Amino acid sequence: MIITQLKDLNQIYDLIKPYNKILIAGCDGCCQPPRSLNEAKVLGQLLELKSRTENKDLKWKAITVLRQCDDRITATTCRPYIEEFDAILTLACGLGVVMMNKVLPEILTFPAQNSMFGGVQNTGENNFIEYCETCGDCIIGETGGVCPRAGCAKHLSNGPCGGMVEGMCEVGGYTIPCAWVRIWARLKEFNRLDLFKKYRGPRDFRTSTSPGYMTVYKDYTNIKEEKEGKE
Ligand code: SF4
Ligand code: SF4
Repeated sequence: MIITQLKDLNQIYDLIKPYNKILIAGCDGCCQPPRSLNEAKVLGQLLELKSRTENKDLKWKAITVLRQCDDRITATTCRPYIEEFDAILTLACGLGVVMMNKVLPEILTFPAQNSMFGGVQNTGENNFIEYCETCGDCIIGETGGVCPRAGCAKHLSNGPCGGMVEGMCEVGGYTIPCAWVRIWARLKEFNRLDLFKKYRGPRDFRTSTSPGYMTVYKDYTNIKEEKEGKE
C-alpha cells in the first residue's frame, strides 16, 4: 500500500485558490490511511470554511474512485463530472494525481496529499513502515527476509556500520533498530550466518532507474513463445 500524509490545509487551499468549483476525489485503493468519500467530504467542508474567511464561496463536490492508479476506472468515474468543475483535487497518492492528469488532460488535478512510501500496516503496533523500496533486484533471500535497502538508513549492502550502538541505528537518534543487527539475529536463528558473511558487491542502480517500466504481457508472451516453440 502507498502510505500518504495529508498536506497542510493552507497549502491545499493555495493550490486550488484560483478556482471556484472543485471536484474532490477520494481513492478507495491501497492509499493509507484511508482517503475515501468521507475524507473527501471533510476536506471539502474545511476548504469551504477556509474560503469564507477570504470572502469567497467555494463550490465543491466529493466523489471517490475505486482505484485512481487504474486508467480506465479513473477516466470512467471522473469524466462525467469534469465539465461542471474548474479543477480536481485528489486524495490519492502521487500515482493517482499523475493518472488523473493523464486521463483527464483537459482539466488540472492537484494533490491534497504527500506520498511517503510504499509500506505495510502493523495494526498491533499502530504504525506504517517501509519494508521494501522496490529496488528491482531483491536480495532478501540472503538477509533472512529483512530488507537492508528499505530498512537501513544508509541502504548498506554489507552492514552494520559503525553507527550501530546496542542494536540501534544512529540515524534517528538510536530509536530504530539497526536493520543489519536484525538480519544477523534472523540468520543466526536459522543457522545461516554463512549468508551474513557473504560479501555483496556495489548495488546496481540500473535496476531502479526512473521511470520504472515493464511491459504488462511480457512474461505471458515469453511463455506463449516458449510453448509455440515446443509444439
Ligand atoms: S531487496 Fe528490499 S527493496 Fe529490493 S525488492 Fe527486495 S525487499 Fe524490495
Ligand atoms: S546502524 Fe544499521 S541501520 Fe543504521 S545506518 Fe548503520 S547499518 Fe544501517
